[in-house]
Amino acid sequence: MNCPTCNQPMDTSLDDSIVRNHKTGQEYDKQWYVCKSDDIWVTVESPRNKAEEKEALLQA
Ligand SMILES: [Zn+2]
Repeated sequence: MNCPTCNQPMDTSLDDSIVRNHKTGQEYDKQWYVCKSDDIWVTVESPRNKAEEKEALLQA
């Protein structure tokens, strides 16, 4: 993703935090895009794979 202001590629980092939509129960991984020179932050929340999560719970 490029910065909307300077049009340079933005730094990315994957946040540890998980966001849950309380209406649907769907969980989302949070991805950050950062342009430090413009101090612009963009977050993208993408759905976690529910099947994988169930498997992880069964193995715990
Ligand atoms: Zn920028």
